[in-house]
Amino acid sequence: MELLNIKKLDLADKKVFIRCDFNVPMDEFGNISDDRRIRSAVSTINYCLDQDCAVILASHLGRPEGEVVEKYTLAPIARRLQQLLKRHVELALDVVGDDAMQKAKNLPRHEVLLIENLRYESGETKNDKKLAKKLASMAEFYINDAFGVSHRAHSSVAGITEFFDDEHKASGFLLQREIDFFSKLMNKPTRPFAAIIGGSKVSGKLEALTNLLPIVDKIFIGGGMAFTFLKQMGYNIGASLVEDDLLQEAQKVMDEAKKLGVKFYLPVDVIAAEKFSADAVSKIVTSQEIPDNWMGLDIGPATVRLYREGLNDVQTVLWNGPMGVYEMEKFARGSSKIAHFVADSYATTVVGGGDTADLVQRIGLDEEISFISTGGGASLELLEGKILPGVSPLIIKK
Ligand code: AMP
Repeated sequence: MELLNIKKLDLADKKVFIRCDFNVPMDEFGNISDDRRIRSAVSTINYCLDQDCAVILASHLGRPEGEVVEKYTLAPIARRLQQLLKRHVELALDVVGDDAMQKAKNLPRHEVLLIENLRYESGETKNDKKLAKKLASMAEFYINDAFGVSHRAHSSVAGITEFFDDEHKASGFLLQREIDFFSKLMNKPTRPFAAIIGGSKVSGKLEALTNLLPIVDKIFIGGGMAFTFLKQMGYNIGASLVEDDLLQEAQKVMDEAKKLGVKFYLPVDVIAAEKFSADAVSKIVTSQEIPDNWMGLDIGPATVRLYREGLNDVQTVLWNGPMGVYEMEKFARGSSKIAHFVADSYATTVVGGGDTADLVQRIGLDEEISFISTGGGASLELLEGKILPGVSPLIIKK
């Protein structure tokens, strides 16, 4: 899959609209707690400025649901961008209102305008054509560099592309890098290729698991989803998270793995607790001996050892989903140990966005991972084998 490339566009001296993903986490004081997504967009923005462009940036932040909600203003983003770009960033007062349209129209070359939160407009998440047209009218070129939202058919991601032909739209460097990494992973991984899949539920990852089975050599299961598999195998899982309606599906996944010769690993021990709480009494138990009414909230030390053994010879590792309730220190150890092992390995290591990226960063291992995706939902859909609505209009038609 080859995407329309920003470098092939004749951008010199033109006006460019770049859809970015500045949907960054904030702390309780409204400070940006992780600006990786903003930093990741800088190379595309600078490239356009180097081409003497006038640059219009757009993003959503949070879920204001079509209303102007002060809490979700992009003002903090504009300030951080200013620091990173080392130049003034003008923030429009609205999205496609008089202020934004006027400022976009009069924007000189080498200047950067950030329009307000796209989701202040109710049409954005409905892929409203009128909104898409107004956004498109701001510039001569459209660049999508918002991987994290490319799985959404929204006006600024999907609808807008219809107003630009192939000579006037392209993917930015960030989007391109994400798609390249995942394409290589799914089509030409260096083997053995292992997927570590965790997170809360089987339902959230079932499609990805099914799609990955014919591609990977080994699968290591962790997190809450492990218990649906363990229950199906006949273990007593106590009060652990389980999806009873997916027991048959879990069996199918295990059968398919066997048929394809994929080594399928499940936790052999867990950290069980009496309740879902950071101060719960907890103990290590084997998967065979989870007491009634106790719940498994992390993988145990024997599982960590087993998974390390299994991962020893792999050349490519994909990790999506934590091994336990990593938000609580007591149940973060399994994820942390696996993170250290993955980071230390000489394999190509890819971490899906969302929770897994968050935990790798919290531990401070982000520099040691080959690639950390900036999009949780989007990367999961790529693993499911889907073509993203924000990406498909940018694919070069052969
Ligand atoms: P997901 O969004 O499906 O990737 O799941 C991430 C969430 O799964 C995190 O918030 C974890 O706290 C949660 N999680 C991981 N392991 C467990 C478990 N054993 N029981 C309940 N929740 C879990």
